[in-house]
Amino acid sequence: MLETICEVLEDAYKRNWITSRDGNVSIRHHDRDHFYITPSGVRKQTLQPDQFKKIKIVSPTMWEEQFYTDISANLKPSGEIPLHFGLQRALGQHNNDVRVVVHVHPTYCVAAMHAGIDLSTVVKDFPELSRYTRVAKNVPDVPPISQELADQCHKNLWLQKDGTIAFDIVGIKGHGVVAIDTSPWRAYEHIERLEHICKIVLASGITK
Ligand SMILES: [Zn+2]
Repeated sequence: MLETICEVLEDAYKRNWITSRDGNVSIRHHDRDHFYITPSGVRKQTLQPDQFKKIKIVSPTMWEEQFYTDISANLKPSGEIPLHFGLQRALGQHNNDVRVVVHVHPTYCVAAMHAGIDLSTVVKDFPELSRYTRVAKNVPDVPPISQELADQCHKNLWLQKDGTIAFDIVGIKGHGVVAIDTSPWRAYEHIERLEHICKIVLASGITK
């Protein structure tokens, strides 16, 4: 799965959804007390599985790094770890599954939010989007790599204590999106679908 995450980020880079050092992904198996997250400041188009950071969930509010590989020992976890930690500690506990959280900066999603569009509202005109992807209300301008960004994303996704969420993807104004699913490519597809619709909406010139 870590290899697949590397492929997803390489593809996101090719699509201009991130510049070299942007974007972050985490993955957790429901029955494990740890998750893996991409390292900070590493070029994502050449990311390798042995560069991931292994993070133990110590308590609902505490995490700690665990040794994974010699290479990753010299790296730091993504600065967006509060976002990933809050989701990964709760998600999927009631389900025999894996959870993957993907954060990138897709051009048309960010452009649509910049133009004043709440991404949750584009769903109603495009049934092919709403059939497969539940889109949350935008998170307003919040500082990157902040607890505020994490809290607002969790709130708009309707993250509950039992690990359920009401949406598959949420946009952060002036920044990017966060998508969640049971595999890297499934999470990626939520982004791809929403990005495609945002491109169509912006091409139409009808933004209100
Ligand atoms: Zn970002």
